[in-house]
Amino acid sequence: KVLLASLCVAFVAVKWSAPSFDSESLRGARVLVTGASTGIGEQMAYHYARFGAQIVITARREKVLQQVAEKCQSLGAQKALYIAADMASVSDPDQVVDFAVEKLGGLDYMVLNHIGPSPFRMWDGDVEHTRWLMQVNFFSYVHMAWKALASLEQSKGSLVIVSSLLGKMASPFVAPYTSTKFALNGFFGALHHELAMKKSNVSISICTLGLIDTEAAMDKVRGVTNIPAYPATDAALNIIKTGATRQTDLYYPWFTQLVTLSKDWLPSLTSYIIQNSYNYSP
Ligand code: NDP
Repeated sequence: KVLLASLCVAFVAVKWSAPSFDSESLRGARVLVTGASTGIGEQMAYHYARFGAQIVITARREKVLQQVAEKCQSLGAQKALYIAADMASVSDPDQVVDFAVEKLGGLDYMVLNHIGPSPFRMWDGDVEHTRWLMQVNFFSYVHMAWKALASLEQSKGSLVIVSSLLGKMASPFVAPYTSTKFALNGFFGALHHELAMKKSNVSISICTLGLIDTEAAMDKVRGVTNIPAYPATDAALNIIKTGATRQTDLYYPWFTQLVTLSKDWLPSLTSYIIQNSYNYSP
């Protein structure tokens, strides 16, 4: 109990000491958001637009991107451009960065958010799918980060990585997905240290999200679990604030941080809870 009370006090202290967000800082900011045709990425595009940013959005479906870009323009974006790209391709990630840097004249924020579709089921030995998902969810992030680093350095910019609680804690039915998120946390955690040691201008924020009510996520877990889902628009706003205030981490909702700690402190209990959070009978 004492431990839990101290943890809660520590959390409140961290929340209070978090730097305050000034939405004016995003007016005219040059932003690239990936995976922005639906879900959290789409919501981020709308928030950036309301703040008067200049945005480039990307995903595979050109028609949907066009509609999102039009809505961004109507919400107040200074610029709203789109480029269709498949992150499974080796060349598209670089081309997207080139397009954004050229059209916006540089970059202040790059928010890497896209994920490829992956089945929600027990691991069935599909190594090829895991390899493909690694390219989409992980290697494309690495490519884009490297390609954008010089521009971000020039602008004292920020790199924002959208990760997951499943990048800190493994869970059943999503082995390939969880692997890609662990890889992201490892790679960008290391890069964060290296940039700090080199006294780089670029900040890296890694966002750990719990279950969010996007259509894609809800389609997977409906009827399978009662874990509460949090609103995509609020998750999106919190990610943007984290990048704008150059914080290293976001845990959304807040208790995801407690959950990540519990897996090391109370491993058996955590495993029991995880395995009993899903309706499954062999
Ligand atoms: P969605 O599935 O709703 O959106 C995924 C986006 O990625 C879409 O815009 C999709 O557009 C794009 N995409 C898919 N495949 C490719 C590809 N091969 N190349 C380029 N773009 C692609 O995801 P969410 O909004 O739910 O999740 C967003 C982020 O939040 C992800 O990083 C996810 O891991 C993280 N997260 C989400 C949680 C949740 O519960 N929703 C929980 C924890 C983390 P298109 O089909 O047009 O290509």
